[in-house]
Amino acid sequence: MEISPTKTVARALVWFRRDLRVADHPALAAALREAGAVWCVFVLDKTILRDLPRGDRRVAFIRHSLADLDERIAALSGGRARLIVRHADAADEIPRLAAQLDVQALYFHRDDEPAARARDARVYERLRADGRAMRGFKDHVIFERKEILTGGGTPYGVFTPYKNAWLKALHARPQILGDCGSDVDGNALAAPPPGLRRDGPAVPDLQDFGFAASPPAPHDDPGLRPGVQGGEALLDEFLDRIDDYDATRDFPARPGPSHLGIHLRFGTLSLRRLAGIAAQRIEGGSRGAQTWLSELIWRDFYQQVLFHHPHVVDHAYRADCDAIRWEQGAQADAQFAAWCEGRTGYPLVDAGMRQLNATGYMHNRLRMITASFLTKDLGVSWQRGEAYFARHLNDYELASNNGGWQWAASTGCDAQPWFRIFNPVTQSERFDPQGAFIRRWVPELAGLDGKAIHAPWKAKAAERDYPPPIVDHEVAREKTLARFGSRGSGSPVVGADE
Ligand SMILES: Cc1cc2nc3c(=O)[nH]c(=O)nc-3n(C[C@H](O)[C@H](O)[C@H](O)COP(=O)(O)OP(=O)(O)OC[C@H]3O[C@@H](n4cnc5c(N)ncnc54)[C@H](O)[C@@H]3O)c2cc1C
Repeated sequence: MEISPTKTVARALVWFRRDLRVADHPALAAALREAGAVWCVFVLDKTILRDLPRGDRRVAFIRHSLADLDERIAALSGGRARLIVRHADAADEIPRLAAQLDVQALYFHRDDEPAARARDARVYERLRADGRAMRGFKDHVIFERKEILTGGGTPYGVFTPYKNAWLKALHARPQILGDCGSDVDGNALAAPPPGLRRDGPAVPDLQDFGFAASPPAPHDDPGLRPGVQGGEALLDEFLDRIDDYDATRDFPARPGPSHLGIHLRFGTLSLRRLAGIAAQRIEGGSRGAQTWLSELIWRDFYQQVLFHHPHVVDHAYRADCDAIRWEQGAQADAQFAAWCEGRTGYPLVDAGMRQLNATGYMHNRLRMITASFLTKDLGVSWQRGEAYFARHLNDYELASNNGGWQWAASTGCDAQPWFRIFNPVTQSERFDPQGAFIRRWVPELAGLDGKAIHAPWKAKAAERDYPPPIVDHEVAREKTLARFGSRGSGSPVVGADE
């Protein structure tokens, strides 16, 4: 094949993973600039899919987003190229495909989850042995790894100084939010060679790789609109209300948050673009955008925590917190089951869990309340809650989920101080004052009016179909203080996300 003198690589493969778009895609843009022929692949990774429920909503989201990506690749190439989709173990399949296509280089975006790093290291070894290069790019965070460090060169352990350093770094390099792909064209995108072409649609149906054809309806979750198109529609809606985000975001009955988490998880929207939009709005004086950008910075914060402290996957961030004696045994199991199913007798906790079970989404305030309830009222380990969220959240992200759980359990980096314990009734009165969110998700209580809905056991005619509280908050609180007090030498952590 003749390659133009401006190209340094004859043939390249772009490995899509959590970046299912073509716009503002650093790895694709670099490959198109540098290579004479470019192929694009996504692997439905058997090692990841094997453990997921057959009706997993996220797999359906990925499947639909891949179909969208395939169309966009075809359009960018003038109809010539298609996405190559494989159902295999990625660590084996990528080197095999690279050999079949005889590419010189693999282009991809870095992923700092420990399992992804281990997989990528295996791929790297195989490619290197074959004489092929691997070119990694940053995409799903604004600042990664060691880009934001303290003056002493150590990673930040407290959010506010991290955020200040992050904002300073952005101020110094605003171009970091620029679109990285507007100057490239798709001429180099190549059709898969005959032996590698799939008959029929490029993207297999869900049942072709062992999943339910129609997963449970995304009941009441606007965030499950897949693909770039779905993400753009959500973004449009959110931009109409971003200026009010600071005032509305804590009230689950109001349309405050963006529901864009899953689009950031799978890269159907570019994080740089979202941060850029927020930064522009901030220049125009938007306090809502300022608060929203802070949330995106929390996301980067937890990503760098995971990078620098991968032990958090299996342990408390704070070593002394591994000594905490969480409740175990039949009663803890029964209470954990009640928490999972949304029948703890605390209405806002139950409403949050039922929202999660029905939709795969849970409002941030409720993630904090339900996580606090599990760890501080029931004394059940944060790791059990973390695993439950990991299975059910559409926007599940290891770094943020682990960070959120360890924050709520007071075992983590810049966590809530252990002696501050959410009261599930006053939280309910404060953040769902009219009980509108509770009425929606706990219809048994819809008949209760006024304040009664926050603590139905106090009402004259307690609701018969709704359970009494499985634990007395005041008693549980004392037990938690004792549990943390006797954990060893640790001193209280300061600084919290109020
Ligand atoms: C116990 C617990 C578990 C959590 N698990 C996850 C998870 O698995 N995946 C996840 O993305 N977020 C998680 N969060 C953070 C937060 O609750 C969600 O990001 C947010 O609710 C997603 O909804 P949204 O997209 O409408 O958010 P918005 O309020 O619109 O925020 C925009 C984006 O900012 C990021 N963000 C917002 N808040 C946080 C935060 N506190 N930490 C890190 N990133 C944040 C997310 O990417 C989010 O999509 C968790 C929080 C807690 C307390």
